[in-house]
Amino acid sequence: MRKQIAAANWKMNLTVDKGEKLLDDILAAGIELSADQLAVFAVPSPYLQLAQKKLAGRKNYFIAAQNCYSKKSGAYTGETSVEMLQSLNIQYVVLGHSERREYFQESNQFLAEKLNLVLEYNITPIFCCGEPLSIRDAGTQNEFVATQLEESLFHFSAEELQKIVIAYEPIWAIGTGKTATSEQAQEMHAHLRSVLAGKFGKEVSDTISILYGGSVKASNAKEIFSQPDVDGGLVGGASLIADEFITIINSLK
Ligand code: PEP
Repeated sequence: MRKQIAAANWKMNLTVDKGEKLLDDILAAGIELSADQLAVFAVPSPYLQLAQKKLAGRKNYFIAAQNCYSKKSGAYTGETSVEMLQSLNIQYVVLGHSERREYFQESNQFLAEKLNLVLEYNITPIFCCGEPLSIRDAGTQNEFVATQLEESLFHFSAEELQKIVIAYEPIWAIGTGKTATSEQAQEMHAHLRSVLAGKFGKEVSDTISILYGGSVKASNAKEIFSQPDVDGGLVGGASLIADEFITIINSLK
């Protein structure tokens, strides 16, 4: 079975005390994850080390960075390098979140550079894609997300591709309370899988975990995650509330 992943994206929220309490409360639920299930917490970079320590000894729980830079090191004030993440034993990083694409002008090509470096350092990227409302309204979402995959991922070998987790996040559903229906999610995930199959083969595309993101919460997670091509979720708002995220982890297939 593909890895089923509940990934929390805290974004730029929570003070350190609140973040620590949130992690403590979630871990206190004592959810035992099976070999095919993961819980990943993308925390703000100042909290990476503390959060990493909190997860010590917890099987299949991981900390992720929310971003990293495309260069190895040097005069890039304010940026975080992949090597820094590796030195902290961070094994996941979110790349290409729509907020990074929109507010920091991250292009598909720039993300390809980041992905190259992240894979070189054996860190697993959670690569986000997804269309804005105008594209969904125009009915061209399939072509739009296919281009995102083509321009950021198609230069990889099949072996490299299998080290990447994809998150489909329709921008119109992020933080809006407007969730894609489980049918819309399934339809797009199947499309993404077929785009990957066209380039890398079906056997390879069947191994890629594709998460859904966009207003996932305790009350809808089970239904969304139950779709055959949905392998869990990337969760913003609801990941900041312990009980919500506990239910979301418990909703994994
Ligand atoms: C996200 O930030 O990736 C996200 C999906 O946010 P929300 O769950 O709040 O829509």
